Amino acid sequence: MELLINNGTIVNANNTSVANVLCRDNKIVGIGDLSTANTSVDRIIDATDCYVIPGGIDPHVHMHLPSSAGFSSDDFYSGSKAALFGGTTSIIDFVTPRKGESLQDAILKRTKESQNCLTNYSFHVSPIEWRDTIENEIDNCISKGLRSFKVYMAYKDTIGLDDEVLLKVMKTVGNAGGMVTVHCELGDEIEILRNKFASVNCLIPEFHSLSRPSEVEAKAVEKAINFAKEAQCPIYIVHVSTKESLVYIREAQKNGQKVYAETCPQYLLLDDSKYIGDFENTGPFVMSPPLRKKEDIDALWEAVSDGTIQTVGTDHCPFNFKQKETGRDDFRKIPNGAGGVENRLALLYTYGVLKDKISLNQFVDLTSTNVAKIFGLYPEKGIIEVGSDADLVIWNPKIENIISASNHHQNCDINIYEGIKTIGSPRFVIQSGRVVVENGLMISTPSKGQLLVRR
Ligand SMILES: [Zn+2]
Repeated sequence: MELLINNGTIVNANNTSVANVLCRDNKIVGIGDLSTANTSVDRIIDATDCYVIPGGIDPHVHMHLPSSAGFSSDDFYSGSKAALFGGTTSIIDFVTPRKGESLQDAILKRTKESQNCLTNYSFHVSPIEWRDTIENEIDNCISKGLRSFKVYMAYKDTIGLDDEVLLKVMKTVGNAGGMVTVHCELGDEIEILRNKFASVNCLIPEFHSLSRPSEVEAKAVEKAINFAKEAQCPIYIVHVSTKESLVYIREAQKNGQKVYAETCPQYLLLDDSKYIGDFENTGPFVMSPPLRKKEDIDALWEAVSDGTIQTVGTDHCPFNFKQKETGRDDFRKIPNGAGGVENRLALLYTYGVLKDKISLNQFVDLTSTNVAKIFGLYPEKGIIEVGSDADLVIWNPKIENIISASNHHQNCDINIYEGIKTIGSPRFVIQSGRVVVENGLMISTPSKGQLLVRR
């Protein structure tokens, strides 16, 4: 199968050029003036006036996540389908064992749940407790290409780690040559605030936000960075949402420590005024960390622009309104999370590139290249060059859309970006050398995504 993409503007993280791209089966085999190649190709796409960018890689999604209100509403099939419509061809989800369960057993189970994933996929694996065998379990993960380990400083009654275990996990992963990704919020402090609000009957969603203030995130970021330094372990801080966190991240990076940071479109675009109002309008925005203030938004854009933050993931974890409603009378029962895997590229293009906050090359870096580099997928993914995988998006910078739950492909009756206008959208999405989305339609059922082996 040969596919030729003509006259597009190829945008990589560090260069832009007009050239033709030839894909054979699942690889890019030629870039340049390929007019002589035209004879044998199966399909020619004219990409004039479009950008040709590496397929998006979302480093942070939760498909089919169990919660007290049932599973998150996108499973691997529906969520990955939505991802493809939005120009994302690879996702990294999570393996979260139950107490007592080995990482390997949990990986097996999660691999079964992800059988119908349409995008390529990998997992961050969560050690949720310490035991004698954990060192071997972590080594085993790394030998299988699963080299990032997610730890939670919040949610200590279920999956969160106390300080002693956190440090031990970082030392173990650091020794083994892996990376720790960290959810930074101080669980104990949050618990105190939640109980305090509940005891005086303050139970509307606004108190979700007030029980997780900025400093609780920033202090956790500071602690995680210090632990990582002691453990000599690279860390990746997920969903950074506050300007105070950025101070610690910048400082560590300046000192040469391997500290990477991710933020999400919701923290770049929405603020905590979403928590004022009735439950119908506030419940959907309950997520952790919560939405912050305008000055945090400004600081995050600055950090995205100056390279302090390397990636934009979504933390995609949608729940239907009925599920959110289980916490109508008590914010502590609202399942945390919101969808966005489909909207990431269009939002970042519209409100980043078109608003002159980031360049087109940075857009590619934040949504694909840096993710591939940090998580061991580069240069197969994250760049358009000869030898790389043929996961590509042909981006039409002119297509306008109004985001809505009524027309998105995510399996959810809520979209937190409802009514927001975007400009720019995939005209073609190509995965493993095959066109899967064309002009807003899925033209063929994509072949199953590949479980990615990371180096
Ligand atoms: Zn998450």
